Amino acid sequence: AAIALQDAAQQPGRLQVYQQGSDAAHQRQVNLVRDLRHAAQNGELLLYYQPKLDIRAGRVTAAEALLRWVHPQYGMVSPGEFIPLAERTGSIQILTTWVIEEAVRQLHEWNQRGLRLQVSLNISADDLVNRGLAEQVGQLLARHGVAAEQLVFEITESAMMQDPQLALEVLHSLRACGIHLSVDDFGTGYSSLAQLKRMPVQELKIDQSFIRDLDEHSEDAVIVRSTIEMSHSLGLKVVAEGVEYSYILDLLRRWNCDTAQGYLINKPLPPAQFESWVRQPLSSTLATEH
Ligand code: C2E
Ligand code: MG
Ligand code: MG
Ligand code: MG
Repeated sequence: AAIALQDAAQQPGRLQVYQQGSDAAHQRQVNLVRDLRHAAQNGELLLYYQPKLDIRAGRVTAAEALLRWVHPQYGMVSPGEFIPLAERTGSIQILTTWVIEEAVRQLHEWNQRGLRLQVSLNISADDLVNRGLAEQVGQLLARHGVAAEQLVFEITESAMMQDPQLALEVLHSLRACGIHLSVDDFGTGYSSLAQLKRMPVQELKIDQSFIRDLDEHSEDAVIVRSTIEMSHSLGLKVVAEGVEYSYILDLLRRWNCDTAQGYLINKPLPPAQFESWVRQPLSSTLATEH
């Protein structure tokens, strides 16, 4: 009930849902929040991997790890649903810890089999006020013999807002450790170029809302092209998220975008499927200009 009240206060639109008595939806939220805390220890979490295409090289050498939760009652629950719940109810750090450990373990396993990739992870606002994060990750990398350069942390600009000063300190300590940093969902939320300039990041991901219906002569095209130029001037690599069609990849290639991620290349896959896919030659559409 506490959650329902909190939601109602923050999002007036939601109040109606509960007043109309959406008991099932409410009960589902309550159950998910209760069960989240034990999902990791119950073995209900999985990491899926979505390839990132190096557009110029025509090769996949990186992937984003995306969390999946198989709930005993509800089946597969989307992170779009449970991550915000975990963030609001103080259990996101348990999930982040599991994600980092699992990703580093997977990197080690792939390294040993001669598959050397860079893996990106998503981290939340609460992780950015955790002063111990860099040390925790550093020890884990050392224990598994994985190079820090193989790990990328994706941070949204809104995640910086909780305590911007401390968040910057945490980012600097992660960088000092050798971990790469990326700005996720760029162009949505609380973008500020002043803040971007201060963040010690190496990569910027243009949000999929600008990419999905991209057309050469639209306003989105102006935004995407200038974001690519600005990023390059700042020394950042640029990823386009949500690339679903080959004509969009062609545009991005022409505009000098570095990396593409989206269903055109592949959807997020379980580790074994990702591995067999990434070891195969890429389709000619993705590998070369045509
Ligand atoms: P995100 O980090 O921006 O991840 C990209 C999302 O877009 C993923 O959704 C991915 O499956 C989806 N996507 C990729 N390509 C396409 C495409 O071509 N078309 C469309 N329509 N969608 C595409 P997913 O896996 O459902 O994750 C949603 C969000 O949940 C993520 O957005 C991220 O914010 C959050 N999330 C996922 N895993 C974690 C995690 O381990 N920790 C945290 N803190 N957040 C996570
Ligand atoms: Mg991401
Ligand atoms: Mg994103
Ligand atoms: Mg997102």
